[in-house]
Amino acid sequence: MSGPRAAAMAGPDASLVEVALPLPVRRLFTYRVPGPAPAVGTRVQVPFRNRTLTGWVLGPGKDVAGMRDVLAVLDSRPSVGGELLDLARWIAEYYVAPVGMVLRAMLPAPATAAPRRRLVARVVRPIGTLAELEGVFGRAQRQREAFERLLEAGGRQAVAALAEQGFSRSVVRGLEAKGLIRVAGEVVLRDPFREEPVEKGDAPTPTAGQRGVLRRMVGMLGRGGGTFLLHGVTSSGKTLVYIELIRSVLRRGEGALMLVPEIALTPQTVARFRRAFGDLVAVLHSGLSDGERFDAWTQLRSGEKRIAIGARSAVFAPVSALGVVVVDEEHDGSYKQSESPRYSARDVAVVRAGRAGAVCLLGSATPSLESWANAQGGKYTLLELPDRVGGGVLPEVRIVDLRSRGKPDSGAARPPSPNSASGASGPPTPPVHVISPPLLDALRQRVGRSEQTILLLNRRGYASLALCRSCGDITECTHCSVSMTLHRGRRRMICHHCGHTARPPRQCARCGSTELSFRGLGTEQVERIVLESLPGTRVARMDMDTTGGKWSHRDILARVESGAVDILVGTQMIAKGLDFHRVTLVGVINADIGLHLPDFRSCERTFQLLSQVAGRAGRGHLRGEVIIQTYVPDHYVVRAAVAHDYHGFVERELSARTDPRYPPCVRMARILVSSPAQSAALSGAESLAVWLRGRTRSRPEILGPAPAPIEKLHGRFRWHLLLRGRASEVGRALNAVADDFRSPGAGIRISLDRDPLHLM
Ligand SMILES: [Zn+2]
Ligand SMILES: [Zn+2]
Repeated sequence: MSGPRAAAMAGPDASLVEVALPLPVRRLFTYRVPGPAPAVGTRVQVPFRNRTLTGWVLGPGKDVAGMRDVLAVLDSRPSVGGELLDLARWIAEYYVAPVGMVLRAMLPAPATAAPRRRLVARVVRPIGTLAELEGVFGRAQRQREAFERLLEAGGRQAVAALAEQGFSRSVVRGLEAKGLIRVAGEVVLRDPFREEPVEKGDAPTPTAGQRGVLRRMVGMLGRGGGTFLLHGVTSSGKTLVYIELIRSVLRRGEGALMLVPEIALTPQTVARFRRAFGDLVAVLHSGLSDGERFDAWTQLRSGEKRIAIGARSAVFAPVSALGVVVVDEEHDGSYKQSESPRYSARDVAVVRAGRAGAVCLLGSATPSLESWANAQGGKYTLLELPDRVGGGVLPEVRIVDLRSRGKPDSGAARPPSPNSASGASGPPTPPVHVISPPLLDALRQRVGRSEQTILLLNRRGYASLALCRSCGDITECTHCSVSMTLHRGRRRMICHHCGHTARPPRQCARCGSTELSFRGLGTEQVERIVLESLPGTRVARMDMDTTGGKWSHRDILARVESGAVDILVGTQMIAKGLDFHRVTLVGVINADIGLHLPDFRSCERTFQLLSQVAGRAGRGHLRGEVIIQTYVPDHYVVRAAVAHDYHGFVERELSARTDPRYPPCVRMARILVSSPAQSAALSGAESLAVWLRGRTRSRPEILGPAPAPIEKLHGRFRWHLLLRGRASEVGRALNAVADDFRSPGAGIRISLDRDPLHLM
């Protein structure tokens, strides 16, 4: 066998490379490539078993038996650079994930579609005076008009845009022939925000407080950076601090990375950044097509765009000369990825900024306990903005004690009759546990004064469970151990965990009784009750059911902004970052949802949600009011939210986490063992626990196995172990499981979650 190709492969001109593949195994694979080895970070296409995969070259390979050849080298320059590759390695190590999976999560899918091109006419000889125009164009009036339009448009315009204005190709050719313009093809970079109008407005001037915190951070630019935690009450002007800090970074010729929890929910923040920085901003979010994302990356890497703004995965954006990383609403749960690699974008942001010597700024009105503890321990620098801007005051918070107003959910089983237009006595009175009389009065006042209201209920759907009145059976999802939620508009029962849908039951599946009661209030029902009790009111609902489309969040928010909505009903989606000056009332329908979940963060999450939604009220010159309905008015979470007392809350919550110990008082990881068979999940978890205990000699501490609170999900039974100890101990144990533990049976899946956000 001595064909020229085979000879080249086997000869001294071939190189061996180690390739990371996006597979759930923590090892690299050696391949042969003709000629010199491609640079580290280059993508290659390789055969793997009987498939073709795309992987990344990570270094020189070792000679091994059965080595195969690289099929194609995909990049002329590495697709991932030194800084990001180091970060990928850190993530793979810390979160115990295969580096190939990390790289796949980091990088945008390669653009499959060829870049679009368009013809652009550009003025090359501008003529301004009237006499000159007369001389050049004479009777060619259309040419003259086209030319003048071009000048008005800044000297360049797409030929297609000229055609839309009625100028034919022959007019354009005439201008070209006169040597006035040149027409050339240009690659169109896809930027979905480019067409969005950018309103001009005067940038506000920072207050003394804002200038103070800015000085602290600007002083560290170019001097090794550092991590800052900015605790600013709602409406204290954190966004302006971000903008001014980034301005300082740009002046130094550096770039910025700005993370927001969910970009679709924060169109106002994005708009402010585009207003401040125009085309220097690349907006990254999950609604982008592969091509759009690829283009944004290209522009960031080339330095054409200097600021990346986006949600979780934007933490990997290739901003060149990184000077600052900002994480807005740093406490938000969406920064943690729920699939492998289960990284926290906030924590990755801190690491990335630290390695680049950049400033990292974490901002929140309700910082996570982790970040607060880091600031108290001196790891981060704490900065505070205790006042609202413009002399605004925090809204007054009132409690409505639902205990005195009927049992939970007792009225939720109302027969789904059309609204009671039958009686002449006016609109029906809403069930008091849904909208109590004080809340109803406040709503009426706001509608009367053309002010707006936000109503929060953190549960979507119409009724969250169907209960049999005879035997007490609850209709559960066939794949999960959770109740199905009734969605009245869609006439379906839906599982909120796996998406399974079914027809609403007419009778109990267990005893056959037709006495079913639909309980557990959801946003869909609140919307209906509000419409019935306040006829003529303009109500909009924002939750996952109403925001399926790419721009539907933005459309709903635009209607609120324009004043076309009186009452916005929604889930936690409406608690985040919204800034509407005519919202003077926030009503929380039931503050207790989520408070009693068997999860150590349930109090923290509830406090954050209540504080954040309360912060939506009274952001303009009108004073705001908040009404919180609850069955536990004396709970410390509710009391702290009423008093706007973040410091009091963290003190209490931190001490609660010292015994038993929970983060941030200890480091934690969760190992979840799942299987379609209940017995296999249990025995798998037990054998893993025995194996791990035999290796770790009580460090870290191993708790369990125990069934997960949601014992069955997506058709799999779930048992878990919790590890508690120092970071190094937890890391060592997880690495041992990933590298050495042999799964005890087919169908058993083991997932590792370091610094877990949920234990459900
Ligand atoms: Zn029954
Ligand atoms: Zn389900």
